Amino acid sequence: MLLREMSRIECDDLLSRLGYGRLACARDKQPYIVPIYFVFEPGCLYGFSTMGQKIEWMRLNSLVCVEADEVRSHHEWSSVVVQGRYEEFTDNPEYSKQRQHAQSLLEQKRLLWWQTAFAAAQTRGRFDRDITIFYCIHIDEISGRRVSSDPVEHR
Ligand SMILES: Cc1cc2nc3c(=O)[nH]c(=O)nc-3n(C[C@H](O)[C@H](O)[C@H](O)COP(=O)(O)OP(=O)(O)OC[C@H]3O[C@@H](n4cnc5c(N)ncnc54)[C@H](O)[C@@H]3O)c2cc1C
Repeated sequence: MLLREMSRIECDDLLSRLGYGRLACARDKQPYIVPIYFVFEPGCLYGFSTMGQKIEWMRLNSLVCVEADEVRSHHEWSSVVVQGRYEEFTDNPEYSKQRQHAQSLLEQKRLLWWQTAFAAAQTRGRFDRDITIFYCIHIDEISGRRVSSDPVEHR
């Protein structure tokens, strides 16, 4: 088994192809992680959500981590870790361009891009559960690891 570091281009390519991963945030000393869809653009991951725990926590602490991976087999996988900052595109004129941009990218990438976030809202039963949130994770640091079969081992 050969493990190597992925280049920045390889990391970007994986994030762009996959479009989903795990978003980790933290409040006080407690981590919280959930799977999310996103759209990659150089330097940024765009997402959509309704109001819930992860949004509340990221508002309090914008430092987050996103992990995405592609596992073909025990001997063939790739994994990318992003350290970044949450920015919310609030529903006011100041952010209207960013909201439109995020929505248009999400529409291009995935049919029914809004559905999972609304499904999550149904379980909450809160007054603010239908508030829609577009956001961006600014990528500060990125690293990737890829494993492939060792030809000798393979034989
Ligand atoms: C492949 C995939 C893609 C997804 N993409 C999106 C997306 O783009 N946008 C989006 O808003 N949501 C997405 N989800 C759903 C997401 O994982 C969360 O379940 C959802 O966003 C609610 O998170 P919240 O923090 O608002 O939780 P809340 O609704 O506030 O609920 C908090 C409570 O529910 C539990 N909980 C929440 N989510 C999960 C979970 N996934 N698994 C187990 N327990 C959970 C927490 O532990 C906590 O106790 C996706 C899920 C999957 C599997």
